[in-house]
Amino acid sequence: MGPSPAADPSTGALGECILQIRILVDCREFKMIKKIIFGLLALVAIALAFVWFRTRPSGDIGKYKEYYVDDQVVNDSSVRVTFFGVSTLLIDDGQTQILIDGFLSRPSMTTTLLGDIQSDSTAINRILRDFRINRLRGIFVTHSHYDHAFDAGYVAWRTGATLYGSPSTLNIGRGAGVPESQLQAYQPNVDLSLGNFRVRVVPSIHSPGSALNDEGLSIDKPLLQPASFKAYLEGGSFDFLITHGGKKIYIKPSPNFNAGALDSLDVDALFLGIATVTKHDPTWASDFYRENVTATEPALMVPIHWDDFFYPVSDQLVMLPKFTASVEKDFDYFIEKTRKDKIDFKVLQGTRTIVLF
Ligand SMILES: [Zn+2]
Repeated sequence: MGPSPAADPSTGALGECILQIRILVDCREFKMIKKIIFGLLALVAIALAFVWFRTRPSGDIGKYKEYYVDDQVVNDSSVRVTFFGVSTLLIDDGQTQILIDGFLSRPSMTTTLLGDIQSDSTAINRILRDFRINRLRGIFVTHSHYDHAFDAGYVAWRTGATLYGSPSTLNIGRGAGVPESQLQAYQPNVDLSLGNFRVRVVPSIHSPGSALNDEGLSIDKPLLQPASFKAYLEGGSFDFLITHGGKKIYIKPSPNFNAGALDSLDVDALFLGIATVTKHDPTWASDFYRENVTATEPALMVPIHWDDFFYPVSDQLVMLPKFTASVEKDFDYFIEKTRKDKIDFKVLQGTRTIVLF
C-alpha cells in the first residue's frame, strides 16, 4: 500500500512550498557559486596581468639610440669587442680571440623556470660561424651562474679554447666533456699571455641580492646538462683586466664594488654591469660609481648586463624586466654622471662591435 497523499510532501500545498524553498535555496547557492567562480577568475586575471606587467622590459632601449655604436671600420689589427648580451663579450685583435663568459643559448623564461635546460648547439654553432669565432684561445667566466657560464663548456668543447675559471666553472666544463688539458683554474692577479693580450683575473664580489642567495656556494662535481638553472651556483665572482699594446680594458660584469680595490687603476675602456644599481639607496649607487668609474678614469664606458636574457641573442635586445631592475633609470644615472665626468658612454646592442683601438 502506497503512502497516504496527505503525508507526501511532494504533493499538495506543503509540497509546493518545500519545492519553492528548494528552488530558492538552489538559486541562492547557484548565485553564490557564480560569485565565487567570477571572483576566482578575476583574481587569476589580476595575477596574470601583474605577471605580464612585471615581466615587461623595464624601459625602452630605443630611447638610447644616440648612444649606439655606429658601424665602424675594423682593421685586421683593431682591438674590438662584440656584445652577445649579459656579459658575454668577444674580444678580438685579428689574431687572438678571447671570450668573456659564455651564454648564447638563452632559453625562454618558461623553459628555464619550468624544467631542466640544455645548451642549444644549433644556436651556438650558428653564432660561432656567423661571427667567425674560429681563433678563440681562452674563455674567462665571471661567475658560474647560468646567465654567464651556461654554454662556456660547450663553446670550449666545440672550439678547443681553454676554459679558465673557478672550480665551479671548471666543473661546468667537465660536465660538457671538456678535457682536463683545456681547463685552467684561475690564478688571481697574475697576468696571462694570450697572443698579444694580457689577461688578469681580479677577485670581485657578486651584485648584492642574488636571486639564488648562493654567493660563495660552489659546484662540486661535473655538472651535466640538462640541468636546472639553479644548479649553476655562483662559485666566486671575478673581474678582468685586459691589456693590449699598452691599452687597458676593465670588465666588471657583476654590479658591486670592493672599496679601494681599483683606486690605482686607470683604464681606457670600462665594460660595467649596471643593472639594479639605482635600486639600491643613492649612497650605495654613488659609492658604486666612485669605486668603479671615478677610480678607473676610463675614456669610454660601455654598460653591460642590462638585457633580458630570456630572449635569444639578436640585435634587438630588450632591457631586463621590471621585476628585476629599472634599467632606464640605471642608464639615465650613468649617462648623467659620465657626461659630467667627460667620459664617452656608448651602448652596444646585441651582436654589435665596438672598435677600441
Ligand atoms: Zn650572478
